[in-house]
Amino acid sequence: MLYRGAGRQASLHIAISGGAEYDSQDPHEAPRERLHQLPGGDLLVAMDERLEEAYQDIIRRNAGEIEFHQAVREVLESLGPVLAKRPELAERKIIERICEPERQVIFRVVWQDDTGEVQVNRGFRVQFNSALGPYKGGLRFHPSVYLGIIKFLGFEQIFKNALTGLPIGGAKGGSDFDPKGRSDDEIMRFCQSFMLELYRHLGEYRDVPAGDIGVGTREIGWLFGQYKRITNQYESGVLTGKGLGWGGSLVRKEATGYGAVYFVNEMLKVRGDSFEGKTCVVSGSGNVAIYTIEKACQLGARVVACSDSDGYVYDEAGIDLDLLKQIKEVERRRISAYAERRGSTARFVPGGNVWEIPCDIAMPSATQNELNGRDAAKLVKNGCIAVGEGANMPTTPDGVRIFLDAGVSFGVGKAANAGGVATSALEMQQNASRDSWTFEYTEERLAQIMRDIHRTCYETAKEYGAPGNYVLGANIAGFIRVAEAMEAFGLI
Ligand code: GLU
Repeated sequence: MLYRGAGRQASLHIAISGGAEYDSQDPHEAPRERLHQLPGGDLLVAMDERLEEAYQDIIRRNAGEIEFHQAVREVLESLGPVLAKRPELAERKIIERICEPERQVIFRVVWQDDTGEVQVNRGFRVQFNSALGPYKGGLRFHPSVYLGIIKFLGFEQIFKNALTGLPIGGAKGGSDFDPKGRSDDEIMRFCQSFMLELYRHLGEYRDVPAGDIGVGTREIGWLFGQYKRITNQYESGVLTGKGLGWGGSLVRKEATGYGAVYFVNEMLKVRGDSFEGKTCVVSGSGNVAIYTIEKACQLGARVVACSDSDGYVYDEAGIDLDLLKQIKEVERRRISAYAERRGSTARFVPGGNVWEIPCDIAMPSATQNELNGRDAAKLVKNGCIAVGEGANMPTTPDGVRIFLDAGVSFGVGKAANAGGVATSALEMQQNASRDSWTFEYTEERLAQIMRDIHRTCYETAKEYGAPGNYVLGANIAGFIRVAEAMEAFGLI
């Protein structure tokens, strides 16, 4: 069912034609073409007129940052009924304030590679919102990183972190540094140079980064070591995702994937269903994908495929998790190596599209905009009943629309993948009390948080007249928590 915001309406078509200077690159552009081609639907998603104006202004003031526009649009499309109920929020420009980062830091990172050549990269930290707690969010090292990516991720993080119910604000950072093909020494030198600037903006009460794409426990170790060296303090709570021997939390490594599966499990329960006997496809083969596969298998599913940017592996016997971990976590190799070593049940499909594989449950766990409208239509046609976004914004706007219209249970990333950052907040709690919890206790805390997030999104969607629409539920519930705290602090 298409949700329509309250008040006077403006169409998506009008909205996107405003961003003329880069229209051809805008992710709303391609989906728009397809939106009109889709069979049988009223496909223009409308926004409240005041929100449309605010959105146009955001496009103008953040020119070219197309992923950020996409993330903002998705949230604003949900907020019409909230502002209709609470007009004072609109009068006090809450939308304009929430969409403007509190602080954006961009810095030069210089380092020397193994041949002695000087390398120059760009570092970012966008401290988006601290209404609910210290800035919190990961660091991404990937060549695609630019300000628009970091802002989209930081914006999503505000609402995701609010949904956890834990005291954490929203932020994101990273660099266009590409770790692929770099030696351990090179990556360590890069991390040290990156931290030499970033440290002044961090602190356990100020800003607490963690990992994201290209940043795992190893990189957090090098970053933490350099922070400790510069500040001469053992400030455990300044970074999360640390190693278990030096302040890390059990379950943090597994948390995003496990959490996404817990969230999907709750959605399935609403349908009177479960993971038992289901066929799953998981995209990606990094940390999120690996622990999504692990938990889905523990709950009785069969995961038949996963992928990387070179292609996918299909394994009719189900992905062998020990082999996958050996190849990705120990040897740090490409996913094609899995098929080479697995034998006859598995094959690697170079350049293949993982969403062409029929499945009951799809878990996009690679990166933004990896699942488009065509993929969504294919999944629906193949009988997919639930989607859980382990990655941040992996489904394009037209893909989301197709899932919602088809009645697929769609677990939007900011709700479904909140288990990672939630467990980071549990790591901060353990660090603050100089304690460490057992695996069982920490996992149960994570599971409870995911059940609570699901219930909050489900009930909020119902209250606002869009039952089953977790996108709307997550956006509204996250927004209200942040907006109320911001209101309490006055005009800051
Ligand atoms: N990068 C993760 C995310 O997207 C985790 C952030 C954190 O633990 O601070 O939520």
